[in-house]
Amino acid sequence: MSIYKDTAEVEIRERRLDAILSYRGDAKTLNIQSKERKVSCPGSFYSQCSQCAEGCAETITYHVIDAAVISHAPIGCSVGVSPRHILGRAVSKNRGLPEHKVQMISSNINEEDTVYGASKKLLAAIYEADKRFKPRTIFLQASCASGIIGEDMESIAKQAEEKLHYPVVPVYCEGFKSNIWSTGFDAAFHAVLRKLVRPAQKKQRDLVNIFNFAGSDTFIPFLHKLGLQVNYLIPMATLEQIASLTEAACTAHICETLATYVAAALEEQYGVPEVKVPPPFGIDWTDEWIREIARYTDRAELAEQVIIQEHERIQPELEKLREQLKGKTVYIMSGDAFAHNLANIAKDLNLNVIGLSTLHHDLHFETKEQANSLEALIKSAGNIENVRVCNKQPYRIIKVLQDIKPDVLLVRHPNLAPIGMKLGIPTLSEGDGNYSIGYDGVLKFGRRLLELLTAKKLFVNIAAHARLPYSSWWKENSVDAFDDNTQDNEQSIVI
Ligand code: SF4
Repeated sequence: MSIYKDTAEVEIRERRLDAILSYRGDAKTLNIQSKERKVSCPGSFYSQCSQCAEGCAETITYHVIDAAVISHAPIGCSVGVSPRHILGRAVSKNRGLPEHKVQMISSNINEEDTVYGASKKLLAAIYEADKRFKPRTIFLQASCASGIIGEDMESIAKQAEEKLHYPVVPVYCEGFKSNIWSTGFDAAFHAVLRKLVRPAQKKQRDLVNIFNFAGSDTFIPFLHKLGLQVNYLIPMATLEQIASLTEAACTAHICETLATYVAAALEEQYGVPEVKVPPPFGIDWTDEWIREIARYTDRAELAEQVIIQEHERIQPELEKLREQLKGKTVYIMSGDAFAHNLANIAKDLNLNVIGLSTLHHDLHFETKEQANSLEALIKSAGNIENVRVCNKQPYRIIKVLQDIKPDVLLVRHPNLAPIGMKLGIPTLSEGDGNYSIGYDGVLKFGRRLLELLTAKKLFVNIAAHARLPYSSWWKENSVDAFDDNTQDNEQSIVI
């Protein structure tokens, strides 16, 4: 069956990848049960917070150079624009690019529009964006409201394209459509594949596509050692970079959760092979990743030389860090595959990973050949107890951390860091997804952890003055008191 379908919308993750939102057990069992498509995942009577697919789509569309975005939504759906604007400015500065400003307009759908229609507002917003920003493409992001009223964004996009003579690209990322907010990544990539990617005019044998979040520039110096060029996608990419990504020798990404859909679709539709090993986090995964890249770019010998040289270079400091960090316990909270990335670095630093909490879990991937970072982690670091799938929910995580009491908490999303800090746990925020790649990434990670541990007293002081909003009843109850086990059987047979 084809991965990329010539339809306006991509199928949601629950159906495509049998993604789940809850699990508690250990890593090995999760991996085995995932393969059997039979994971025990209790529902919940209570949800404290959530996110939505539109937010994940924005992480991609807001940062395409020379693009504007229309959020066809009530104004509240655009709450994420300010942090993305700040991120865009910071990353463009870090990468030596012209300052990136998010160019976005909300169509501000209101109650009346949900009755009488909002197509006029959408068209007006498109033409206003054209006048204000002079973009070269406009993304139209759907929302719950536009989805519920059945807005015909395809026709509106076509009408606007006829007038503007550049692509107007609908992104179907309605929040209600999927419980797995990462569906928004797939929705944005599907829109890009449909309307912006072009067949290759020529092949560039030294060009590697790297799908990443808007992170720092670590891949260019890293792949320079192999004499390779990097095409960073999609945040901070130009429309030309996106159109010609089919010219690359291969496609890699920093995280399965982000980019397995687009990578598999590119291989299927345009013959750009996907690197099918876990991303370069931790020494063993970096070795394998380099070898895999070298396979597609005909430089196997050079790759082996680089691996030997890099091992020799980092060894003295690595040994010291391993000695200093030996046995420290770590708990990791992150998106699904990125938690595995961080755990694989922690293993190299002699840390004891005593638990993981991932925001969702895909039971399988687009193809059987794609990398399975959970399985790779188990192979590399052994089984991990206390594995949970939990879509943030601080009320649960607080309890888990109070029970487990790790020496360090690692989080991918900065807004999760206060949870650890309020409990007096030194917390490292890995907000920049590119920062810890490669051999230097392991050293940098170790240095930051050492520095963090010296500040333990600061976290203890914060905890002494922080008041948690939970009642003594909750504190005395089990972390799983709000589990709805009646849903368990229903959800365990995932179709
Ligand atoms: S699209 Fe839906 S779920 Fe997302 S922010 Fe808007 S109303 Fe909320």
